[in-house]
Amino acid sequence: MTATNGTGGPCRFCGRRRDPRAPGRNGPICVDCVRAGLRVVRDGADRESGAGDVLAAVTSPLAAVCDFCGRRERRTFLGLRRPLLRVDCAARDAVICVDCLDHAGDVLNVALRG
Ligand SMILES: [Zn+2]
Ligand SMILES: [Zn+2]
Repeated sequence: MTATNGTGGPCRFCGRRRDPRAPGRNGPICVDCVRAGLRVVRDGADRESGAGDVLAAVTSPLAAVCDFCGRRERRTFLGLRRPLLRVDCAARDAVICVDCLDHAGDVLNVALRG
Protein backbone atom coordinates (compact mmCIF):
# COMPACT_ATOMS: atom_id res chain seq x y z
CA MET A 1 0.00 0.00 0.00
CA THR A 2 1.38 3.39 -0.91
CA ALA A 3 0.54 6.67 0.72
CA THR A 4 -1.64 7.83 -2.14
CA ASN A 5 -3.51 4.66 -3.17
CA GLY A 6 -6.51 3.33 -1.31
CA THR A 7 -6.81 6.42 0.78
CA GLY A 8 -10.56 6.59 0.28
CA GLY A 9 -11.19 10.17 -0.67
CA PRO A 10 -10.37 13.62 0.62
CA CYS A 11 -8.41 14.36 3.79
CA ARG A 12 -10.51 13.92 6.93
CA PHE A 13 -9.12 17.10 8.45
CA CYS A 14 -9.34 19.60 5.62
CA GLY A 15 -11.54 18.01 2.93
CA ARG A 16 -8.94 18.50 0.23
CA ARG A 17 -7.35 15.90 -2.02
CA ARG A 18 -3.85 17.14 -1.48
CA ASP A 19 -1.14 14.50 -1.95
CA PRO A 20 0.49 12.72 -0.38
CA ARG A 21 -2.14 11.38 2.03
CA ALA A 22 -1.77 8.61 4.60
CA PRO A 23 -4.65 6.11 4.70
CA GLY A 24 -7.03 5.79 7.64
CA ARG A 25 -10.07 3.70 8.47
CA ASN A 26 -12.50 6.58 7.96
CA GLY A 27 -10.45 8.35 5.33
CA PRO A 28 -6.93 9.68 4.87
CA ILE A 29 -4.99 12.57 6.36
CA CYS A 30 -2.90 14.84 4.13
CA VAL A 31 0.65 15.98 4.65
CA ASP A 32 -0.38 19.51 5.65
CA CYS A 33 -2.71 18.25 8.36
CA VAL A 34 -0.10 15.79 9.68
CA ARG A 35 2.35 18.68 10.02
CA ALA A 36 -0.24 20.90 11.70
CA GLY A 37 -1.32 18.06 13.99
CA LEU A 38 2.24 17.33 15.08
CA ARG A 39 2.65 21.00 15.99
CA VAL A 40 -0.53 20.82 18.08
CA VAL A 41 0.72 17.80 20.02
CA ARG A 42 4.11 19.44 20.53
CA ASP A 43 2.88 22.57 22.31
CA GLY A 44 -0.87 22.10 22.79
CA ALA A 45 -1.76 25.27 20.89
CA ASP A 46 -4.52 25.24 18.26
CA ARG A 47 -3.55 25.27 14.60
CA GLU A 48 -5.48 25.67 11.34
CA SER A 49 -5.87 22.84 8.87
CA GLY A 50 -5.19 23.43 5.20
CA ALA A 51 -8.82 24.50 4.81
CA GLY A 52 -8.80 26.88 7.78
CA ASP A 53 -10.62 24.63 10.25
CA VAL A 54 -9.29 24.56 13.81
CA LEU A 55 -7.17 21.61 14.96
CA ALA A 56 -7.12 21.37 18.76
CA ALA A 57 -5.53 19.08 21.35
CA VAL A 58 -7.82 16.58 23.12
CA THR A 59 -6.76 14.77 26.28
CA SER A 60 -10.06 13.73 27.89
CA PRO A 61 -10.50 9.96 28.09
CA LEU A 62 -14.20 10.57 27.44
CA ALA A 63 -13.67 12.40 24.15
CA ALA A 64 -13.86 10.72 20.76
CA VAL A 65 -11.59 7.85 19.78
CA CYS A 66 -8.86 8.20 17.18
CA ASP A 67 -10.28 7.69 13.67
CA PHE A 68 -7.14 5.82 12.67
CA CYS A 69 -6.65 3.28 15.47
CA GLY A 70 -9.90 3.42 17.45
CA ARG A 71 -8.18 4.14 20.79
CA ARG A 72 -8.78 6.87 23.33
CA GLU A 73 -6.23 5.74 25.90
CA ARG A 74 -2.98 3.87 26.21
CA ARG A 75 -2.66 0.71 28.23
CA THR A 76 0.66 0.08 29.88
CA PHE A 77 2.02 -3.38 30.50
CA LEU A 78 0.78 -3.19 34.07
CA GLY A 79 -2.76 -2.71 32.84
CA LEU A 80 -2.78 0.94 33.84
CA ARG A 81 -4.48 3.37 31.51
CA ARG A 82 -2.97 6.63 30.48
CA PRO A 83 -4.56 9.40 28.45
CA LEU A 84 -3.77 9.28 24.75
CA LEU A 85 -3.19 12.73 23.32
CA ARG A 86 -5.35 13.34 20.28
CA VAL A 87 -5.94 16.17 17.84
CA ASP A 88 -9.45 16.88 16.68
CA CYS A 89 -11.04 18.92 13.93
CA ALA A 90 -14.47 19.59 15.42
CA ALA A 91 -15.77 21.14 12.20
CA ARG A 92 -15.21 17.84 10.36
CA ASP A 93 -15.66 15.43 13.26
CA ALA A 94 -12.16 14.04 12.67
CA VAL A 95 -9.76 12.79 15.38
CA ILE A 96 -6.22 11.42 15.22
CA CYS A 97 -3.91 10.39 18.06
CA VAL A 98 -0.27 11.23 18.48
CA ASP A 99 0.82 7.66 17.66
CA CYS A 100 -1.10 7.70 14.37
CA LEU A 101 0.23 11.16 13.55
CA ASP A 102 3.76 9.82 13.98
CA HIS A 103 2.97 6.79 11.84
CA ALA A 104 1.32 8.93 9.14
CA GLY A 105 4.36 11.21 9.18
CA ASP A 106 6.63 8.22 8.55
CA VAL A 107 4.43 6.99 5.70
CA LEU A 108 4.36 10.43 4.11
CA ASN A 109 8.10 10.93 4.51
CA VAL A 110 8.68 7.77 2.49
CA ALA A 111 6.19 8.95 -0.14
CA LEU A 112 7.82 12.38 -0.37
CA ARG A 113 11.29 10.89 -0.73
CA GLY A 114 10.14 8.44 -3.39
ZN1 LIG B 1 -5.65 17.77 5.24
ZN1 LIG C 1 -4.59 6.55 16.66
